[in-house]
This record gives sequence, C-alpha cells and structure tokens, in this order.
Amino acid sequence: MNDRDPLITTTAPFLPFALPDIGEEEIAEVVACLRSGWVTTGPKTRQFEADFAAYLGGDIETVSLNSATAGLHLALEALGIGPGDEVVVPTMTFTATAEVVRYLGATPVLADVDPVTLNLTAAGFEAAITPRTKAVIPVHYAGLPCDMDAILAVAATHGLRVVEDAAHAFPTLYKSRLIGTLASDATVFSFYANKTMTTGEGGMVATRDPALAARIRLMRIHGIRQDAFARYTATTPAWFYEVVAAGFKYNLTDIASAIGVQQLRKIDRFLLRRQQLAANYADALHGLPLQLPADAAPDSGSRHAWHLYVVRLRPDASIERDALIARLCQLGIGTSVHFIPLHRHPVWRETCRRADAEFPAAEASFSTMLSLPLYTRMSDDDQHRVVQALRDIFAGRAT
Ligand SMILES: *Cc1c(COP(=O)(O)O)cnc(C)c1O
Repeated sequence: MNDRDPLITTTAPFLPFALPDIGEEEIAEVVACLRSGWVTTGPKTRQFEADFAAYLGGDIETVSLNSATAGLHLALEALGIGPGDEVVVPTMTFTATAEVVRYLGATPVLADVDPVTLNLTAAGFEAAITPRTKAVIPVHYAGLPCDMDAILAVAATHGLRVVEDAAHAFPTLYKSRLIGTLASDATVFSFYANKTMTTGEGGMVATRDPALAARIRLMRIHGIRQDAFARYTATTPAWFYEVVAAGFKYNLTDIASAIGVQQLRKIDRFLLRRQQLAANYADALHGLPLQLPADAAPDSGSRHAWHLYVVRLRPDASIERDALIARLCQLGIGTSVHFIPLHRHPVWRETCRRADAEFPAAEASFSTMLSLPLYTRMSDDDQHRVVQALRDIFAGRAT
C-alpha cells in the first residue's frame, strides 16, 4: 500500500499522466531574464518569435500570446468574426476552441469527427455550413494532421476563413509541410504545461498575412499602437502613445519566452523521444483488446507529433473504460480522457442544441477512450510499467 492514497495498491511511485521537460538550460535562461531587469514582453519575446518563425521557415509571421486561447480569440477577431456569425468547430476538442467564438458574440457550430482519426473531416465541415458560417477551426487531434487540402478546398468553395487549432500539432507535418505553413488564414500553437513544448502558459499565432499579424499584435496589448518595449527603452522621450482599439491584455512575458527559446532548441529531440514511445506502445500493446491510435499514412509525407497517445477499448475487452482508468490509478499510473466531446458539456449543449446522436463517431469513441502517459521525461521502465499494468488488468491478474 502507498501511504498517500489508500486506493493506490502499488509501492512504485505514482507515474503522472504528463510532466513538462524543463532542463538546466531553461532555468539558466529564466534566471538571466530575471537578472536582466526586463521581465515583461521585450527582447526575449522578440527572440522567441523570431526563432519560432525560423523553425517554421518561409515567409511566416509569428505573434506570441499568453495562451493559445488568446491566439484563437485574436485570430478570429482579426478576421472580423462577430455577432450573428457561425464558426464550425469539431466536437472532439477542448472547450477553448469553441469558447473563443462566443467571446466575439458568434456561435460555434459543432461537427462530428472521423471515426478513426478523430479529426474534423471535409464532409463533416461541409455538412455544418449554413448561410451564417464565416469560418472553421480544424483541430489536429493528438498531433495527427487533419486532411487540410480537403478542408481548405471546402473553405475556398464557400468563401470561409480557416484558423487551425494546432495546440497538439507542433511539430506536425502535413504532406511534407509543417503545420503553421499551410494556406489557412492563421495557425495557433499552445505552450501549456503538458503540450509538446511549454512556456508554462503561452501560445503562438503563425500567419502569412502581415495585416492579420499586425492586428493581433495591436490587440494583444490594449490596442496601443506602439509597443511597451520600444516606449520604455527609447533614448528620446517617448511618453506618447495612442490607443486605437479596445484591445486585450494577452502579451507573453520575457520570463515565459526565456523558457520557450530553450524548449524550441530541444523540440526535434523531444519529437524523436515521443515517436519512440509511440512506436514502443504500438509494439507492446499488440494483442491486447485495444484499438491503437491512427498514425499518418506511410509515404504520405505527413507526421504525427504524438502529443497524446489515445487508445480505445475494443468490444471484446473484459473491462469498461471508467473501471480501467480506476484500476490503472490503483496501480500508480495516471491517465486522462481527451476529450469529453463538447456537445456533452452543459454550456455547449445549451448553445448548440444538438442531440448526442448527431455525433455518432465522437459518442462511440468517447465512451471507450483513454490517453496513456507519453512524455519525454518518461523512462523505458516507466513505459514498461504502463504496458505491464494493462496486460495484468486484461488478464485478470491485477486484483
Ligand atoms: C490546450 C488546448 C488549447 C488551449 O491552449 P492554451 O494555451 O491552454 O490556451 C486549445 N485547443 C486544444 C485542442 C488544446 O488541447
């Protein structure tokens, strides 16, 4: 028995569902930032934005924010989404994807997802379009890219805007191109604590449209035309500024950007480890009554970022999802569920007034899905514990 929790029936330390991978490099960079005297948005944030743009390559503009939620909000704002408009959102996502639509007085319209990839499909998107539809927010679920060519084609046919929710998708490839460099209006990445790289809290908008980037830069800092760093560090008197819009307070701090600069340098190594852990799971879980997550098709040029490793219980499994999660927890293993579909949450049920039966793929997957631990700080032994626990539970040995 573990002395922390009477439910835990293992002596091994609890394996959390997710942990950030912060090294001495991040710590040193944050300390240097703290010693520099500049802690809010300034030179480190500019460097982080420039480094991120360089990683994406090409003529991409990057605008950092204090969350991906803020980025989604300001991207839609810059595209002119407002009251009376509708924005198509997949039901299999986090509430942030839909709530930003409400911030602007517009209405999220939920769409079902592909039963295998759990991504929004072009057909699901098109079926949700009405005369009020102005935009769509595809979510690259777990880090696997949506079929963006098909989604962009539907958007073009109907004259709709596209903002990609890439909170899971750094660095994801779609047909050999990085998510963030496609033809959509904007792409939004998250640096929340459990994402593929973190700044504690943070986000980044990538866009090819300089006017869109300029609007987001303005609105993230109160609608003030000149940025604070230029104002306070100018050697000529620079007290004057003008507020040209009722903006928001969404800027990323240099303390957070200091973490981001160092995390970004490690992202390719992080990806390799995530790919390795995903491949290990695929090998080791073979033969258990689990449906393993979809991967990018070989030779497609696409690449999964493996933010999440989501398995689903097959009908021949001897245990139900909730009981499996409880048993894994007793064995000292943290898991999660991504996601409770939006149409099941009271607020979106109220807003969207759609029956559960209108989302058959999301419904079927939700009741059987769980996310297994997959993060760079996990050791091979940690992963072996997860696999062994699953084997024992399915064999009826773990009692
Ligand atoms: C994490 C997440 C977000 C929000 O990211 P924040 O940086 O926490 O605002 C948005 N969409 C999806 C799909 C997410 O998983």
